[in-house]
Amino acid sequence: KMAAFPVEKRLEGFDYRHQTTITKRQVNALLDFQFLDERNNLVFIGPPGVGKTHLAIGIGHKAVEAGYRVLFRNALDLVEELELAEMKGELKKRVSALAKYDLLIIDELGYLPMTRQARYNLFQLINSLYEYRSIILTTNKDFTSWGEFFHDDNVAVPIIDRVIHHSHIFMLGGESYRLKQKVTS
Ligand code: ADP
Ligand code: MG
Repeated sequence: KMAAFPVEKRLEGFDYRHQTTITKRQVNALLDFQFLDERNNLVFIGPPGVGKTHLAIGIGHKAVEAGYRVLFRNALDLVEELELAEMKGELKKRVSALAKYDLLIIDELGYLPMTRQARYNLFQLINSLYEYRSIILTTNKDFTSWGEFFHDDNVAVPIIDRVIHHSHIFMLGGESYRLKQKVTS
């Protein structure tokens, strides 16, 4: 399966009347994919249920349609994948394989703590994508708590720097869409 999206989500199905902290105009402006051509990143920050993953997949789909190579990875799965590769002495090989994509979507970084080795592996990946490929990152952690999440070690700061540098950052807020559905149904 090409981009490995976990669920089918389309931008056409995104309700901007519910999610008012990002506009349709802002999202549509990304769809010329200049951000990919310039190797910029997108970062969606916000609490659970506000549409971060939906937007990431929706934009990812459009990128595939526009001819870009896109890969979706849940952050935990990605960390595990890198860990397995590292144990087999194949971290470099795996990182190069992941760097073949124009766009890597890393979904839900920050929900669970990572080991030092996991942070190091992630750093290796981010480092080789830096200014060469694009990342869409979704996270529940704002930058002020990233240091804490990464245990303030010497790997954290370069990861944060490399992701934030050349990136469009969208802070999403509002009510969880999941709760809304519960209430209205
Ligand atoms: P997050 O990644 O921010 O936790 P999701 O993108 O997974 O949230 O959204 C949770 C669920 O609600 C998904 O099924 C998603 O499709 C839906 N959803 C969230 N926001 C919207 C929205 N503005 N319009 C339509 N569906 C939405
Ligand atoms: Mg999500």
